[in-house]
Amino acid sequence: MNLQISSNLAISSKSWGQHEGEELVLFKIENKAGAYVELTNYGASVVSIVVPDKHNKPGNVVLGFPGPEGYVEDSCYIGATVGRFANRIAGASFMLEGISWQLDKNEYGHSNHGGKNGFNSKVFKFRVSEDSVYFNLRSNDGDGGYPGNLDLTVRYQWTDNCELLISYSAFTDKLTVANFTNHSYFNLSGRNTKISNHELTVYSQRILELGLDYIPTGRVVPTEALALDGRKIKEKLQKRGSTFLGVNHYYILDPSTDGHLQLAAKLSEEESGRILRVYTTYPGLMVYTGDFLKSRVAGHLHRAYEPFDGLCLECQYYPDSPNHPAFPSTALKPGQLYNHQILFTFSLV
Ligand code: BGC
Repeated sequence: MNLQISSNLAISSKSWGQHEGEELVLFKIENKAGAYVELTNYGASVVSIVVPDKHNKPGNVVLGFPGPEGYVEDSCYIGATVGRFANRIAGASFMLEGISWQLDKNEYGHSNHGGKNGFNSKVFKFRVSEDSVYFNLRSNDGDGGYPGNLDLTVRYQWTDNCELLISYSAFTDKLTVANFTNHSYFNLSGRNTKISNHELTVYSQRILELGLDYIPTGRVVPTEALALDGRKIKEKLQKRGSTFLGVNHYYILDPSTDGHLQLAAKLSEEESGRILRVYTTYPGLMVYTGDFLKSRVAGHLHRAYEPFDGLCLECQYYPDSPNHPAFPSTALKPGQLYNHQILFTFSLV
C-alpha cells in the first residue's frame, strides 16, 4: 500500500482541560477536501472521523464524546488505544520463560484489555510533525502486572484520500508480551441509527473457537456459520433471554502475508454510500458488534450509547496468546522493535 501523504494537511490543536494534573489536548488533522480526524492524548484515542457521504455531506463515522469527561468515564474503550494487551488473558496470568506473571483481574477473574488501568485511561505525551500526530507512553515495569518498562509510540496519519494510518512501535527493557489495537466503534451512517443495516465482509476462513467468558480454547476452526460474507449485521444478531448478542469473535487472516498490510475487512452502509476498508499487518482481527456498549455521558449525537450503536474491527494478535504457544508469539524482547500498522480507508460506492 502506498499512501500519499499531502503537504496540504492542516494539523491544529486546542486545550481539552486537565486530567489528574496532566494536560489534555484535542488534535485535528484536516485534508484539502475538509475531511478530518480528531484525536486526543487521553488514551491516544480517536475522537471523530468526519468524511463525506454520497451527497457530499460530511458526517462523523465513529462513536465518541464532545468533551474529555466522556472518555474519563467510559468503560467501553470508545476510540481508545488498547494496551498492554488487547483482549483477554485467561485467569489474568501467564508464564514467560519459566516465570509466572499475575495481572490485574478486571473481568470474571481474567484480564481484559490490559486490566483496570489499561492504556485507554492513560494520558499520553504528544508531538506533532508536518504529517503526523504522535502519542508516547512510558508504562513502568509492573504496570498492570506486566514485566518491563515499555515505551509505546502511536502515530496517526491522515491523507487527502481519507485514509487513516495508525502505526504502533514499542520497546521494552525486559522480556514481556505486547498487543496494541485501536478500539473505535464505527457507524458509517453518520446518523442516529444502529449498525443493523451495515454490510460486513471479513476476509477470513478461520476463527478461534471460544469457550466460557470469550476465552479461546486453543482450537482454530472454520468460520462456517460465523462467516462474514457481506450480509447485513442484523442477520447476525441472536436473541439470548431479553437481550441480543451479535459477533464477538477473532478472525484469522491469511498468514502468508504476515508483516505486510493486507485487506482484513470491508464495511458498508447503503444509505450514506460510505465504505470502510480495513488493512493490517496483524495476523487477525476481533470483530465486536458492540453488544455491551453503554455510556453514562452523552456522545457526539447528544445521547448516551447503547448496544449496537457502533461496531469494532480491532486488528490485533490472537486473544490469550501468552497461554497458547501454538498462537503467533506476542513476546517482546529487549532490543526488539514492536512494529504494527492498521489502515482504515474511507470511500464511496
Ligand atoms: C471484546 C468484547 C468486550 C469489549 C469491551 C471487545 O474488544 O471483544 O468482548 O466486551 O471489547 O471490553
